[in-house]
Amino acid sequence: MIGVLGGTFDPIHFGHLRPALDCLQALALDEIRLIPLNVAVHRAPPVASSALRLAMLEAAIAGQPGFVADPREIERPGGSYTYDTLISLRAELGRERPLCLLIGADAFAGFPGWHRPADILDLAHLVVMQRPGASVAPDPALQALCAGRISDRAGDLAETSAGRILFHEVTQIDVSATHVRELVRQGLSPRWLLPDAVISIITREGLYR
Ligand code: ATP
Repeated sequence: MIGVLGGTFDPIHFGHLRPALDCLQALALDEIRLIPLNVAVHRAPPVASSALRLAMLEAAIAGQPGFVADPREIERPGGSYTYDTLISLRAELGRERPLCLLIGADAFAGFPGWHRPADILDLAHLVVMQRPGASVAPDPALQALCAGRISDRAGDLAETSAGRILFHEVTQIDVSATHVRELVRQGLSPRWLLPDAVISIITREGLYR
C-alpha cells in the first residue's frame, strides 16, 4: 500500500510529519508520497515558491525511510487537483495497488467541495487523521459520500485498491503552517514546531518575514 499526503507545506512541520509516520507504521504502508501543491484551488496561494516548499520538504524528510518527496503537482501546470494527481499515480502504479490518501480532519470536512470527490474514492482509500481543534460537522453531502465505505479496521484497506474510509488516530500535534509563518513574521523562533533543517532554509531565504 502506498500513502499519499498532499499539502501546501508552506512550510512542512511536525503536525504533518509525525501523523504521517504514525500512518506509515500503523497501516504498514510501503511508502508515503508527500506531494506539495503547485496552484492552490481550495485556499489562498502559498507564500513560499513551489521550489522552496519542495526544498523544505526534501530537507525535512532526508534520511527517513518510506518518505518520498513527489514533485508531480509542481511539475504540472494549472490548478493542483487531487483527482488529477491520483490519475497520474494510477498511471504509474497500476489499478490494483491500494492507495491511501491521508487527509487531516479539517480537510475531510471540506471533501464534498473538492473536484470529483466520488471519483477520488474510486482511485484511493481515504485515511482521515484527526487534528487538534478540527471536528467534522454532520453534513449530508459528506454522509452520502461516506455511505457504506467506513472501515474500522486498518487491515480492510489492503483488501481492495480504493473506496474505503478509515478514521485513524494519530499523535495530536497542535501546529499549523499559519502559526509557524506568524511566529517568523513577528521575529519569534518557530523552533521545535518543525525540523531545524527547514528553519535553516526559512532563515537563509528570508521567508515569511
Ligand atoms: P496552513 O496553516 O497554511 O493552512 P496546514 O498547517 O494546515 O497549513 P497543509 O499543508 O495545508 O498544512 O496541510 C496538508 C495536510 O496535512 C492537510 O490534510 C491537513 O489537514 C494535514 N495537517 C496539517 N497539519 C496537521 C496537524 N497538525 N495534524 C494533523 N494533520 C495535519
